[in-house]
Amino acid sequence: MSIPSFAPLTVSPIPSLPDEVNQIRLDTAAIVSDHIIPKEDVLAGREGSNEERQQLYYEFQQYVKSSNLWAPHLPREYGGVGMGFLGLAYMNEILAWSPFSGGIFGIQAPNSGNMQILIKYGTEEQKKKWLEPLVAGEMQSGFSMTEPDNAGSDPRSIQTRAVRDGDEWVINGRKWFTSNARRADFVIVMCRTEDEDSGGANDKMTQIIVPTDTPGFNLVRSVPVWGHTRGSHGEIVYKDCRVPLENALGQRGTGHAAAQERLGAGRVYHCMNSVGQMWRAFDLMVKRTTERQVHGGLLESKQFIQGFIADSYMDIQAARLMTIHCAEVIDSGGDPRTEISAIKVFVPQAFHRVVDRAIQVHGAMGVSSDTPLSGMYLGARTLRIADGPDEVHRVLIAKNVLKRYHDGMAWDFGRY
Ligand SMILES: Cc1cc2nc3c(=O)[nH]c(=O)nc-3n(C[C@H](O)[C@H](O)[C@H](O)COP(=O)(O)OP(=O)(O)OC[C@H]3O[C@@H](n4cnc5c(N)ncnc54)[C@H](O)[C@@H]3O)c2cc1C
Repeated sequence: MSIPSFAPLTVSPIPSLPDEVNQIRLDTAAIVSDHIIPKEDVLAGREGSNEERQQLYYEFQQYVKSSNLWAPHLPREYGGVGMGFLGLAYMNEILAWSPFSGGIFGIQAPNSGNMQILIKYGTEEQKKKWLEPLVAGEMQSGFSMTEPDNAGSDPRSIQTRAVRDGDEWVINGRKWFTSNARRADFVIVMCRTEDEDSGGANDKMTQIIVPTDTPGFNLVRSVPVWGHTRGSHGEIVYKDCRVPLENALGQRGTGHAAAQERLGAGRVYHCMNSVGQMWRAFDLMVKRTTERQVHGGLLESKQFIQGFIADSYMDIQAARLMTIHCAEVIDSGGDPRTEISAIKVFVPQAFHRVVDRAIQVHGAMGVSSDTPLSGMYLGARTLRIADGPDEVHRVLIAKNVLKRYHDGMAWDFGRY
């Protein structure tokens, strides 16, 4: 059964935005609502053959490229649209209405984060070999940092080691939750390369590019997530896995800093996407309340349900404006760490609440896969752990605020 009902994606120009960004929002909305959403059953594999799905996906990607909307997060010189974080926040809240848009617009984790790291840290040869095909959509990639035996929330504890042997790195260790591992042509692996007594605590790691057909790269399983046994989150054993020295990204010991940069941007993208998904969940929920009769009246006439609508409106607008503010801080060159941690905690929780209410309003249909709500629900819950769990970000917010007070200043909520 296809998605039962959805309100059209209604987007009007925002007076304070540049014309270019408004146009991108309108063009994105047209592609998402007129083309992608009506074909979600095919894209999800619920309807038609696998070949049809792949062909449709490819055609949509070509259409996005010809509309000059491909890879909006990348600079133009690397084949992207060259948007700043603020423009992206306004674009992604539209784009993310469909869970398939990320891949269709060339802005999907972990590829999007790897592109940005390759742009910043890659040599010209690395860019030619890995970045260009990644941007063109001809290659897939993964980011291999988290380990089963060490706390992912403290990346300094990572034990996978790369040792120099002649003109090669020899990598040994075990990683898991390397997303996209099954499809990846290469992964960027976070490795311990420096001695305990050299440099500072954050200078011990180096990121190394490992092609997935390298002997010693062993994808031992896909970690089942929420019951999906054939998912894409790989557990990988690196056993005497040898790659050339020139596969290191950036200087030795810069891996931690590069990972934090990547994760910082990734957290903001995830929040932008969550806002788009909340907006769609809200639309589905409100529409349903206007159609479904229960106990002698439409759902919309029940005050419990009106409360769901009002609370969801507030959750979405608060999450959205916090994300927009964070993007403004980044674009204006400020230190965004507190804002990033704040949205990383608040937005997935608000997303979770909004989808939970939308599911409740849909009754049994809400937990089925006939609407996108059940997928959103699992995604929202997962986001409270992925990219750093809530607790770690709360600690960081408090630390940053307290530091300012200890430095004799008060917190300025209007700062950039
Ligand atoms: C779907 C999914 C996809 C992922 N994709 C990738 C990927 O592509 N590449 C990759 O490298 N990793 C990936 N991850 C891993 C993710 O980044 C880690 O799971 C995350 O950083 C948490 O690490 P951990 O699971 O080891 O939890 P742990 O570090 O063991 O933490 C467990 C819990 O301890 C608590 N905790 C931690 N620190 C504190 C503290 N200071 N104070 C109080 N409580 C605390 C929190 O509640 C936390 O949830 C993915 C995870 C998921 C779920």
